[in-house]
Amino acid sequence: MPLSRRTFLGTAAAAAALSKVARAQGQTQGPAGLPVAISSSNGLQAVGRAFEMMQKGTDPLDAAIAGVNIVEDDPEDMTVGYGGIPNQDGVVQLDASVFHGPTGRAGAVASLEGVKNPTKVAKLVMETTDHVLLVGAGARWFADVNGFARENLLTEKARKVWLYWRQNLSANDKWLEPPLDKLDPDVKHFIDLFGWDDLRKPTTGGTIHLSAVDSRGDIGGCTSTSGLFFKMPGRVGDSPIIGAGCFTDNDVGSAGSTGRGEANILVSGGHLAVEFMRQGKHPKDACVEVLRRIAKTTREKRLLEADGRPAFGITFYAVNKKGQYGAASMYDRSKTGRPAQFAIADPRGARKEDCAALFERRPS
Ligand code: ASP
Repeated sequence: MPLSRRTFLGTAAAAAALSKVARAQGQTQGPAGLPVAISSSNGLQAVGRAFEMMQKGTDPLDAAIAGVNIVEDDPEDMTVGYGGIPNQDGVVQLDASVFHGPTGRAGAVASLEGVKNPTKVAKLVMETTDHVLLVGAGARWFADVNGFARENLLTEKARKVWLYWRQNLSANDKWLEPPLDKLDPDVKHFIDLFGWDDLRKPTTGGTIHLSAVDSRGDIGGCTSTSGLFFKMPGRVGDSPIIGAGCFTDNDVGSAGSTGRGEANILVSGGHLAVEFMRQGKHPKDACVEVLRRIAKTTREKRLLEADGRPAFGITFYAVNKKGQYGAASMYDRSKTGRPAQFAIADPRGARKEDCAALFERRPS
């Protein structure tokens, strides 16, 4: 496949071609001006809202959270908030973090149950406590005392997907496998979208990360997720871990990620991306360098493809104080063929662009 609008860095030839190809990409043409909001590809509406709010003078973190709330409230997004895929026990547990550049404060919640908008609770952790992260029952208690109702986040669609997964999990339990020819349309749609390597291992999941810079150059970052599909109860991913799924420095920029959280936590990817930008790297290149670090430090065989490349997807998004932005993904497309993209809103409008990619996915 020829190099087109996307940048592949997995081969020497591709790396040599980088400078030419990169200049052709919107994301390296320099800032169109501020404000700017960047997010994972599920956040097209979210970046649009964040951009509009910042244009009216809203604080960048408030704008980022308002954008992310759209996705958290959307039952059709099965990777974030209401309608998210539950854990292995059928319970939706949400993780979220927020980072406010101007004050240098952050807040997060993990394994929070029954609140559609965990980012709102994370913001209260930041504003009204001496802490950065509250988890599980403690996070729920904190939401209760702040007046958040206990809502059922498990939609019918997510329940059916979970039930299908549970019924197929093992031939050695008391569940009987449902006939494959009578697959529920909602379950089929989910499988088409996310893939399902074998019945026990659907590919990771999804999340929204959104970083925003306002017209003054002030910065906010926000990440929200229901985490890996069918995760262990209490499993916490990268999204609520400050320095991994979200990191912001008002002097430099902001970064965050979606994809296999464990891989990100092990390199503190959000923080690393911001440090690379501090050293002068373009946001896109900063994201690529984090991915390169992950690829280099992933050594366990179970996490590698036969050719030694990571057997998981992960994407980083970054923006600097000037409004330059970029995103990079481990692979140019998902296992189901979806191209790696991100959402961006700046004075040129709200749109999706291709991520740079460390590796080109080979046909399996
Ligand atoms: N990063 C999220 C987590 O590890 C999941 C994802 O983005 O797919 O919880």
